[in-house]
Amino acid sequence: MHWDNGDETAGSSLAKAAEIFLTGTVGGSMDNYEIRPSQMELMNACSRKIEEGGTLMAEAGTGTGKTFAYLVPIIISGKKSIVSTKTINLQEQIITKDLSFLSGLKDFSYAIAKGRGNYLCLRRLNAFRSEDQEEAEECRNMVIWASETDAGDIEDLKAKNVRIWSRISSDPDACKGIQCSYYRRCFYFKARQKWERSQIIVANHSLVGINSALTGKSKILPEAEVLIIDEAHALDHVLSEVIGSTLSNRGFESILNKLLRIDERGIYKGLLSKSPNLFTAIESIRSEMRLFWTTVKNEFKGRDKYTVRGLFKYSETAAGLSEAIEALITDINTSVKGLFKEDEEVELIASIIKLKAFSEGLGEFVHGLDGYVRWIEIEKEKIVLRMLPVYPRDFVLNSIVPAYKSIILTSATLSVSGDFSFISNVIGLGEADKVTLPSPFDLRDQVTIEIKNGIDLKNEDGVEKLAGVILDEASKKDGGMLVLFTSREVMKKTWDICYEDLKVMDLNPMIQGEQPNKAMLRTMRESENSIIFGLDSFWEGVDVRGDSLKCLIITKLPFEVPTEPIVMARTEIIEREGGTPFYEYSLPRAVLKLKQGIGRLIRSKTDRGRIVICDDRIETKTYGHVFKKSLL
Ligand code: SF4
Repeated sequence: MHWDNGDETAGSSLAKAAEIFLTGTVGGSMDNYEIRPSQMELMNACSRKIEEGGTLMAEAGTGTGKTFAYLVPIIISGKKSIVSTKTINLQEQIITKDLSFLSGLKDFSYAIAKGRGNYLCLRRLNAFRSEDQEEAEECRNMVIWASETDAGDIEDLKAKNVRIWSRISSDPDACKGIQCSYYRRCFYFKARQKWERSQIIVANHSLVGINSALTGKSKILPEAEVLIIDEAHALDHVLSEVIGSTLSNRGFESILNKLLRIDERGIYKGLLSKSPNLFTAIESIRSEMRLFWTTVKNEFKGRDKYTVRGLFKYSETAAGLSEAIEALITDINTSVKGLFKEDEEVELIASIIKLKAFSEGLGEFVHGLDGYVRWIEIEKEKIVLRMLPVYPRDFVLNSIVPAYKSIILTSATLSVSGDFSFISNVIGLGEADKVTLPSPFDLRDQVTIEIKNGIDLKNEDGVEKLAGVILDEASKKDGGMLVLFTSREVMKKTWDICYEDLKVMDLNPMIQGEQPNKAMLRTMRESENSIIFGLDSFWEGVDVRGDSLKCLIITKLPFEVPTEPIVMARTEIIEREGGTPFYEYSLPRAVLKLKQGIGRLIRSKTDRGRIVICDDRIETKTYGHVFKKSLL
């Protein structure tokens, strides 16, 4: 065991020490503290795992108090730990509420860790020049902010949407590290030093994934003995994004524009604007790439996402472009060496690194990689080539698991009626210990569920019926409402039908996309007449209590779209192995998502509410009982 904080409980079991701390010290400092058996059980399971090592998957229903159940044993053990969340909301809650409270009861250190792009880079800010009046004004404001801020974290900045942020934020490709004259004052490196000194670091899944993909000195997060993955139901999606690659027409243009672009007066700008010998080569690559994107768009238009199998149709063109980009990099390296001032040279090197990554990505996309799925995404003028792992399980097993002695994955939704096989298969943790703790709430007493029949959202009549249900429920005026959609198009159509009527009822309807989610939720929390129409991001992480959220409407059972490339690749693998994709993949995935959605309604023992499900497949289909069983 590891007891480096001089705790008087050293030598006793961690579970016992944590229990004494939670029931005595924590309980004695909180009004209305109640011992929750499921919290105690979870804390004991976490304590054992932290003490003995290994991996635990713990499903803990809403209201279990899972944050304290893992934080208390970590704190008592004194072990260096990383806590990872998916959402910023939970990350903030752990820092500003839970750890802030617990640190008043026991001495330990903690810090928040964010991705590098969140921190201001003093070197880039100082070197920033622009002839654009607005940009110059922004830069002046940022210089003032830089002298006032402690953390240099964009989140602390009152002004939002700083246009120049991507050009003045910390970027690993444009960082001189210890050689930088701002190193001692550098916000990013100061944050990293704090992470080194702190016992507990609260990060996010994306940062944990990026860190695990790096090796040796390039690692961002310090070594830790314990990794807690909260909101673990979302881990596979985030990791796939982190490991995968995304190449877009806009991304490429922005790299090239940094090197060379022509402004509205026809004058060359950019890092290479004083190197006319390179203009032809750059402009020729720009036009060849534009032609390539146009060809791809024309070939695949009419389809949002097109899965690429075998050799990519334009493989020769793509391979040729990849080579041309490499040749341009060689040209730049030989012809401009030593011609730049220091800051410009760092920026030039950063652009070259990005160009190289693009060219390598293009080369990989042509042939694909084993275990990866490739597709083309077209949305209006945006064209993207994507390549993601079908499952992130090799990455989890090879790059995450070996780095920590103890790993605890927790969420309110990891199992389908106690069966973890779906999640453990997706992330490769079949061998992990598993525990399911029920919610301490009496959901049967606190919630009523109604299922509406005959609503088929594939036709207009179905959308009108759905709108009728929403207006009907809203007219009860007994509190806030959250309407969860699976399709943007259906959400928009329903909104158009309902909006005026809801306003006439003196209610406050809001639709995702018109204002930030956070602002919508704040309004909902402070009122009892708000109605949110929301998509994916509202199915999880929403925590609104009391009459501010009284009714939850599920517009459709949340099956993933079967034509999504990742879903198609996964179902094909299950079929090839002789399994049944619907029962092994689509159904459990939808059940877990429905559980997430349902969990938005009851957030405390005193909450009461109604759930209305507008999809009668839950009653008419043979698989309906699997959903029903997981509802309450
Ligand atoms: S050390 Fe790197 S991130 Fe920090 S100010 Fe210098 S260049 Fe920017």
